[in-house]
Amino acid sequence: MGGAIVEYVFNNRMIEPYLCSSDSIITEVNKEFIDFTGFTMGELLGKSLIEIGDMLKFSSQTLLDNINSNYSGFIFTKFSEAREVNITLIHTKETNQKIYTFVEKPNSRLSDKLIFVEQTFIKNIYNVTVYSVPDLILLKDNENYLYFLDLPFSKEKNNIGRSIREIITGFVGSNSEIIWNTVLETQKISYIKEIKFSNFVNGTTYWDFTQIPIFENGKMKYIFETSVNVTERVLENQSLKRQKKQLEQQNTQLISIIENLSEGVMLSDEKGRLLMVNQEAKRLIYQPDKLITTSDTLKQTKLFDMKGNEIPLKNFPVVRALRGEIVKDFKVFVSHPTNEYFAKISSIPIYNTIGDLTRVASCFHDITETIEQSRKFDEQKKQLEAIIENIDDSISIFDNKGQYILFNKAARERFLPSYRTLDNIGDVEKQFRFYDIDGEKIDSNNIPARRVMRGEILKDVRIIEKFPHKTIQRDVSGTPIYDSEGNFALGVICSRDMTDYLKQEEAIRNRYEFLNRIIDTFDLPFIRLSFPDLKIVTINKKAFSIIKRLKPDIESIQQIEDTKIEDYFKIFQTNEYYQCINEVKKEKKTKYLNKQKYLINGNEIYWNVIFEPILKVNGEIQEILIVIIDVTSEIKSTIDMEKTVQSQGEFLVNISHDLKTPLNVISATAQLVNMYCNSGELDKRKNSFIKYIDSINQNCYKLSKMINNIVDLSKIESGFFKLNVSNNNIVEVVEEIVMSVTNFTDSKGLNIIFDTDIEEKTIACDPEKVERIVLNLISNAIKFTEAGDEIFIQVKDKNEFVEISVKDNGIGIEDEHLNMIFDRFKQVDNSLSRNAEGTGIGLNLVKSIVELHGGRIYVESEFGKGSKFTVILPSEKVLHENMIYDSKVKSVNQSIKVELSDAF
Ligand code: ADP
Repeated sequence: MGGAIVEYVFNNRMIEPYLCSSDSIITEVNKEFIDFTGFTMGELLGKSLIEIGDMLKFSSQTLLDNINSNYSGFIFTKFSEAREVNITLIHTKETNQKIYTFVEKPNSRLSDKLIFVEQTFIKNIYNVTVYSVPDLILLKDNENYLYFLDLPFSKEKNNIGRSIREIITGFVGSNSEIIWNTVLETQKISYIKEIKFSNFVNGTTYWDFTQIPIFENGKMKYIFETSVNVTERVLENQSLKRQKKQLEQQNTQLISIIENLSEGVMLSDEKGRLLMVNQEAKRLIYQPDKLITTSDTLKQTKLFDMKGNEIPLKNFPVVRALRGEIVKDFKVFVSHPTNEYFAKISSIPIYNTIGDLTRVASCFHDITETIEQSRKFDEQKKQLEAIIENIDDSISIFDNKGQYILFNKAARERFLPSYRTLDNIGDVEKQFRFYDIDGEKIDSNNIPARRVMRGEILKDVRIIEKFPHKTIQRDVSGTPIYDSEGNFALGVICSRDMTDYLKQEEAIRNRYEFLNRIIDTFDLPFIRLSFPDLKIVTINKKAFSIIKRLKPDIESIQQIEDTKIEDYFKIFQTNEYYQCINEVKKEKKTKYLNKQKYLINGNEIYWNVIFEPILKVNGEIQEILIVIIDVTSEIKSTIDMEKTVQSQGEFLVNISHDLKTPLNVISATAQLVNMYCNSGELDKRKNSFIKYIDSINQNCYKLSKMINNIVDLSKIESGFFKLNVSNNNIVEVVEEIVMSVTNFTDSKGLNIIFDTDIEEKTIACDPEKVERIVLNLISNAIKFTEAGDEIFIQVKDKNEFVEISVKDNGIGIEDEHLNMIFDRFKQVDNSLSRNAEGTGIGLNLVKSIVELHGGRIYVESEFGKGSKFTVILPSEKVLHENMIYDSKVKSVNQSIKVELSDAF
């Protein structure tokens, strides 16, 4: 110890606690200091002044080093008890030693001052603290207070001796600071509720704070603070508020929901006073705007039960509810002056917590539509049941155990007469024998009902049932029905007796095949078309031969099957065809396309086409059969006939003229003769008479020739013209004719020459007819030659036949007419033949007679130079000569006159 200090200590009879430092390191403490602070010598010696300040929790007030001579403040014992002290510094400059004495202020101990609240520190119910004034250093607290503090201050007694600003997180600028400052200023007790407080450890909490200033000598010295955690209460209050708000919100929502419900809602109190009537209720009740009580709503309103009985007021649902009954879904008919409807009403009494009836709620629903719908539904159901019951198909329904729950009439008639105990599908298995279409027995596991139970859907499965007296074919359909969970609930089996149908089908098929065979054997082309796509199913040989002619590259019938008929026949590309097909389709009757003209390889042919629909059992068209009938010859002969009729008409016109001319001459001559007779000049005009009689004769010959020709032609046509054939020397016959006409040709100045290469040639002929032939040709030659011309007749023997030709060097025949002069009624030139006269039947008759002899005739001619007609007769002989001569033997001369009559 230095001298100065020692001196001081002694001088001041140092019994106060002190500590001594040299160069800021503690070098000495006295026993009193140790007693006062509770630290040991070892803890103190060797520490720096700063460390000692911290241990004494003094450094938050000031640093020991910074004390000049005196300082008053708090230090804390090792046990964190505050001691208010006066610190005095004694400084020795020369040794740089410092002595600090700590003298406790008398009566300053907190424990003495706070006797009355000391218990609160111990009980640890509240947070209790004491802060110094004015620097708010924490002097004392209880365990609870640590709650407010974050690390490191919440540990042990780290908080003691420190400023409130330091230890409470976020104190500066907080509501707490304001409160503390207010207490410092006003020096009054502060009681503040539900202060919100946040720190890191505990989050947000709420506290009730009390700050009580403690005075010493009239000056505020400490502030005693208690605080109670009221977080729970605050939060509870807050949630209550929230709940209340929510409740209010819910209430308004509920009201608007109720307002807009499709159900009518009315709420009344226990006296029946209306508390609420929603829109739908207003729509349904009578005079909704004038209502105050429930009984108002019932005025003029009548209720009826569903059987139509009126319900007395005391049994109205709302009245019953007012009596405490619960009425649920009561169906009624409501009637009041402005509305009538079916309603479903529920009325419920509502009780409060102590069990008093306080409210009645009524809900009612307009179910008019539903009732109507269910009525309709019922009707439909009945209809459906009636249909099911009366349908021809047999219908049975069974449940998931195979138990039958329904048979319709057909099913009952089918099953029940013979099987009284048909309750379960098992009975069917036992009692029926089912076979499939191939005649295989169906085992009991595979009968339709079992298959449906396994979930199969059956569509027209053909099943055969065998009975002793008959066999029935059935088409069975079946459907499983499932419940909402997908389990099998019901099976429906529907079956139809197909026996008759199949028989009918069979009959139709047979008929159809029969028809096909018949048609195939007919020599008519036919084509089968599918329906409705109208493609070729097949065609027969005859039709194929036609197609083959049209399209030679097609090789087989198969090749054209399933193609369109229009591809082969133009006739089937016409509107008439499509129209015809449409009519067949519509009327299902046979249709015809007649006299269809068609060109095949340049030949005109005519077809009648028949469209025949082939019908199925149900009356629908299965196929269309097309039959083609060739009517070309009929059509052509009709055309020929028409032509013949026309030329016969022309012939009659010609012939009537030709007949009239000679008649006119005869009649005129007769009148002349008559005139001379009357005038008595007969003898005088004798020479003239001879001429007149010649003229009459001449014209009579002409008429005879014409009539002979016409008669012969008719005979030839009708087959009555007969030859009287005998063996004659043809050279002689012809020569005689030529000789006999020389008189006539001479008179016309013509040169007639006969020439032959044989003297005798006997052939079978009718000499009279040969005469007709030759005279006719000579007559024509005379007609078409002039005076000085030459007619050359020649007979040639050609062994097999004899050739007779008549040649002239007259006007000749134009080439274009050559091949038609042998046709009947044809004259090369009407005007010309008019001059020469003639009916155009002469050469035709000649040709016919020649052909009756088995010969032929032809002509060679050069126009302007002359013509040559050649007759060829076969040189044959007859064994039995026909010696029946015409009884009326004419003189040769006579017939020449007739034959040549038109040549002059
Ligand atoms: P018609 O009775 O009118 O003479 P035919 O059948 O004898 O009828 O003769 C038919 C036609 O053939 C005559 O109208 C004439 O035009 C022609 N014809 C026949 N013979 C000759 C002939 N020798 N020279 C020229 N034309 C002839």
